[in-house]
Parts: sequence; structure tokens; C-alpha cells
Amino acid sequence: MIDCVFCRIIARQTAADIEYEDAHVMAFKDIYPKAPVHVLIVPKRHIASIAELSDDDAEVIGRCFLVARRLGETKGFADKGYRVSVNTGPEAGQVVYHVHFHFTAGRQRGHGA
Ligand code: AMP
Ligand code: ZN
Repeated sequence: MIDCVFCRIIARQTAADIEYEDAHVMAFKDIYPKAPVHVLIVPKRHIASIAELSDDDAEVIGRCFLVARRLGETKGFADKGYRVSVNTGPEAGQVVYHVHFHFTAGRQRGHGA
């Protein structure tokens, strides 16, 4: 198995504060939150980055956005608003090479995650 921290969380070999899970997608709190609410939404299948996406990944990526909508609703930000962002590659600051969507909400400044 690829040595990937998010794959280990998905396999429950590493602890995480899980917010949502279904057959295809998991969402868990970011361990170093950069906003009052900071959840990472990940496809369960290992995909290294947006740069590695294939046509077969279209559905699971769509599902990730539907989980973002759900989090927005359940956490009370559907009207106030929230950000969904993805870092891709070294110059964008991607550190974990398993595709993840940063869901951030609450008072925050600037455009970073
Ligand atoms: P990125 O810079 O887009 O690759 O973001 C990686 C994110 O993963 C960072 O915000 C980290 O705080 C977060 N992170 C790293 N390890 C863990 C972990 N074990 N559990 C939860 N979040 C993590
Ligand atoms: Zn992985």
C-alpha cells in the first residue's frame, strides 16, 4: 500500500476526527485548522493530485463537492458562505499527495485555505 497519511486515515490506521463517510468519500477535521471550521474532504480511492485525475475520477470528484454542500448545510453555513479549495503541486503548497478539498468556514481573512 502507498504510504499515504490520508489512506491510513481512510483505513482507520491513523486517528482522525471524522465528520462524514460513505462508500466513496470521507471528510475529517484538519489537524492544523486554518479557519474556525476546517474540514478535509477526500476521495477514498488514492488519487495523488488534481494533476493526476482521469476521466474515471469524474464521479468521485463530483461527490466530494456534494459532501461540501452537505457540510455547509449541517454546519450552518449554507447562507453565510464557505470556501472549497484545492492546492495542486509544490508552488500551490500541496503537502499531502492524496487529493483533498479544504472546506473552510467562519471568520477568515484573505484567500488562502
Ligand atoms: P495541503 O497543503 O493542501 O496538502 O494540505 C494538507 C492538509 O492536511 C494541511 O492543512 C494539514 O494540516 C492537513 N493534515 C496533515 N496531516 C493530517 C492528519 N493526520 N489529519 C488531519 N489533517 C492533516
Ligand atoms: Zn492516499
